Amino acid sequence: MSDAIEHHLVHRVGWLRAAVLGANDGIISVSSLIVGVAAAPGASAPGVLLAGAAALAGGALSMAAGEYVSVSSQADTERADLAREAAELERAPAAETAELAAIYVRRGVEAGLARQVAEQMMAHDALGAHRRDELGLADESGSRPGQAALFSALAFTVGAVAPVLTAALVGRERVTQAVPLVALLLLALLGAVGARAGGAPIGRGVARVTLLGALAMSVTAAIGRAMPVGGV
Ligand SMILES: [Zn+2]
Repeated sequence: MSDAIEHHLVHRVGWLRAAVLGANDGIISVSSLIVGVAAAPGASAPGVLLAGAAALAGGALSMAAGEYVSVSSQADTERADLAREAAELERAPAAETAELAAIYVRRGVEAGLARQVAEQMMAHDALGAHRRDELGLADESGSRPGQAALFSALAFTVGAVAPVLTAALVGRERVTQAVPLVALLLLALLGAVGARAGGAPIGRGVARVTLLGALAMSVTAAIGRAMPVGGV
C-alpha cells in the first residue's frame, strides 16, 4: 500500500477489512446501547435517541484516540530502532555488513554470495537494507497517526449511523425490534463482504458476526429490562 490509507490495522488486514471491522464496532456497540436503553420500561423516545447519539460520538472519538495513540507509539518505537541502527552503521560498518550477510545465510543464501549481496546493499542503501532485513520494517511511510485516527472514526461512524437513524425513524415502541433487525442485516452484509475480501468462507464469517451481535444486544436488552429506572 503506497500513499493510500496508512494505518497499522490497514497494513495488517487491508483497507477494506479494516473499514468493515470499524463499521462492525459501530453497529454492535451503538445498537446494543440503544437496545439496552430502549428496553428499560421508563425510557422516553428522546432519551433513547440521546443515548444513541452520545454512543456514536463517544465511540468514534474513542476509536480515533485509541488509533492515534497506538499508531504514534508504534512510530516512536520504529524511529528509535532506526536511530539506533543508523548509529551502529556509523560506528561499526564492518560488523553491520557481517550481520546482514548472516541474515541472508540464515534465509538460505550461500555464504560467499550472501557476503557479496550484503556488501552491495551496504553500498547502495545501508540503513534501508537493515530496516527491511534486520528490523523487518516496511516502508517508512507506514505510520500516519492522524490519518489512522480519522479512518477509524469514520468507519465506526458509518456503522453507528444505521442504528441511530433506525431508532429515530421507527416509533418508540418498535425500537427494540427494528434496531436489532437492521443491525443484524447490516452485520450479515458486512460479514459477507469482509469474508470475501479476506478470501475466507462467507457462511462462517456471516454466522460469527451476527451471532456475536445478537448476543451483545440480548445482554444489553436484559440489563435494560432489569433496570429500575423511570423517565430517562
Ligand atoms: Zn544492523
